Amino acid sequence: MVLKSLQINGFKSFADKTTIDFGTGITGVIGPNGSGKSNLTEAVRWVMGEQSVKSLRGERMQDIIFAGSDTRPPLSRAEVTLTFDNKKRDLNWDHDEVTVQRRLFRDGESEFLINGRKLRLKDVANLFLDAGLGRHSLTIISQGNVEAIFGNKPEARRFLIEEPAGVAGFKLKKQQAQQQLAQTDDNLQRVCDIVQELA
Ligand code: ATP
Repeated sequence: MVLKSLQINGFKSFADKTTIDFGTGITGVIGPNGSGKSNLTEAVRWVMGEQSVKSLRGERMQDIIFAGSDTRPPLSRAEVTLTFDNKKRDLNWDHDEVTVQRRLFRDGESEFLINGRKLRLKDVANLFLDAGLGRHSLTIISQGNVEAIFGNKPEARRFLIEEPAGVAGFKLKKQQAQQQLAQTDDNLQRVCDIVQELA
């Protein structure tokens, strides 16, 4: 799968609309301490559905919106867009180019869009999970991750292998199906009780 570009607008230190086009080969991002390198990878994780505020180094999700500086007032929303080349259909979406976008407003309202269509977090998460690219996958290795992986329990390490292999997506679907089955069993039991009462 080819990530073509990342566009950030109002996310953390990126107050202005910033577009990074990834060419072929390896892209390196260099800059002094505090210049926003980690913010870039966090923006990628966020648009892919990251829900853990702690892992985005904040206390509330709104902390990811540009908070203002000496020269600029705070912004009212953050927006991040990833654009993928999907000619090989690595993502289960029938378009040659797929854009995944997430927005968050200061009042807490948030939106996910795939190719401009408003969808749920679940849809975006499934899109990436099916491609073996979940938000916890080893696609993004943040600072401290390597030590954490070595220190992890075996089950947690297995999860890190299962996700890129695409197994995690099936596990999630199995869990959802089991919940639906349990609910159907409850409903059936209730119907049986009513039938017994009426007999
Ligand atoms: P290092 O090399 O030290 O790891 P870095 O280049 O990875 O640094 P980041 O950690 O990505 O830098 O960026 C930190 C900067 O982002 C800090 O200056 C911080 O004030 C700024 N920042 C974080 N959240 C916000 C926000 N909501 N609004 C404005 N600036 C923010």
